[in-house]
Amino acid sequence: MNYKNITIAGSGVLGYQIAFQSAFHGFHVTVYDINDDVLEKAKAKFNILSEAFKKDLNASQQQIDQAGQNLSYTSNLAEAVKDADLLIEAVPENPAIKTDFYTKLAKVAPEKTVFATNSSTLLPSQFAESTGRPSKFLALHFANNIWIHNTAEIMGHDTTDPKVFEDVVEFAKAIGMLALPLHKEQPGYILNSLLVPLLSAATRLLVTEVADPQTIDKTWMKATGAPAGPFGILDVVGITTAYNIDKMAAEKTQDELKIKTANYLKEHFIDKNKLGVSTGEGFYKYPNPAYKDPEFLK
Ligand code: NAD
Repeated sequence: MNYKNITIAGSGVLGYQIAFQSAFHGFHVTVYDINDDVLEKAKAKFNILSEAFKKDLNASQQQIDQAGQNLSYTSNLAEAVKDADLLIEAVPENPAIKTDFYTKLAKVAPEKTVFATNSSTLLPSQFAESTGRPSKFLALHFANNIWIHNTAEIMGHDTTDPKVFEDVVEFAKAIGMLALPLHKEQPGYILNSLLVPLLSAATRLLVTEVADPQTIDKTWMKATGAPAGPFGILDVVGITTAYNIDKMAAEKTQDELKIKTANYLKEHFIDKNKLGVSTGEGFYKYPNPAYKDPEFLK
């Protein structure tokens, strides 16, 4: 892997974190977004992430300054990608937006540029054709708060070049990630293939009145040694995400239990703005949720 220049498309929640993380690890990073106003908002996040890197990773001011020097910004796509070795796409999770983006990108990117999507739920094969370079296209999926939850799932599609795949694995390691290669396409990658069924089983036990959230979490924590149970995890992920997944499934399948689950989450959490850690309350109250109290498992 001899990548030097990285372009990040989309400077939202994940895009900016990936840009900062890559710049912090010495890559030259160009941040691209649809207009300069959005880019100004992205720049404003530099100080917030700097503080987080200092607090959580003991980063020095010198390292932060260097990261700042490694970052540049543009709303001109051709300019953004003109010397990119790797472009990481973090535009909204909407197939039409992504397809349109890749179609435009394909016209202006140099031949050498590898494209990687950070999509959480869409498969790379869905966009491979619109990239105009299927063999140089794959998924590189990060988790929110990338500097602490430093996983990178790497997933190709049928015709991704194995050398490109290996290079992206190396790049992920080079920016401090735990690289997690998948051997084939899988919706939800590894993490969500495990997590989504766990979380929906937990809400099913709750909605069907089998047990209360604390008892369900205690069971999982004590029996497996996990530091949090499914409801503690749901508060971190955000109850809105679980609600949206259940609501979509309910609308699609008209399954009675899914409808009941979506209604339950709406009534008890969404309508009350109890969305989890982000609003200070979900299944638990923050900053000191009961499940972190040593007494919880006694
Ligand atoms: P976001 O809404 O915070 O940011 C999206 C950014 O893309 C915005 O800045 C927007 O202006 C920009 N954008 C819109 N259209 C664009 C275009 N045509 N070209 C360039 N930029 C464009 O979204 P996000 O949460 O950062 O998610 C981005 C991607 O990352 C999605 O595919 C999502 O599935 C994935 N992801 C998100 C998370 C998460 O926790 N938020 C975690 C892992 C992966």
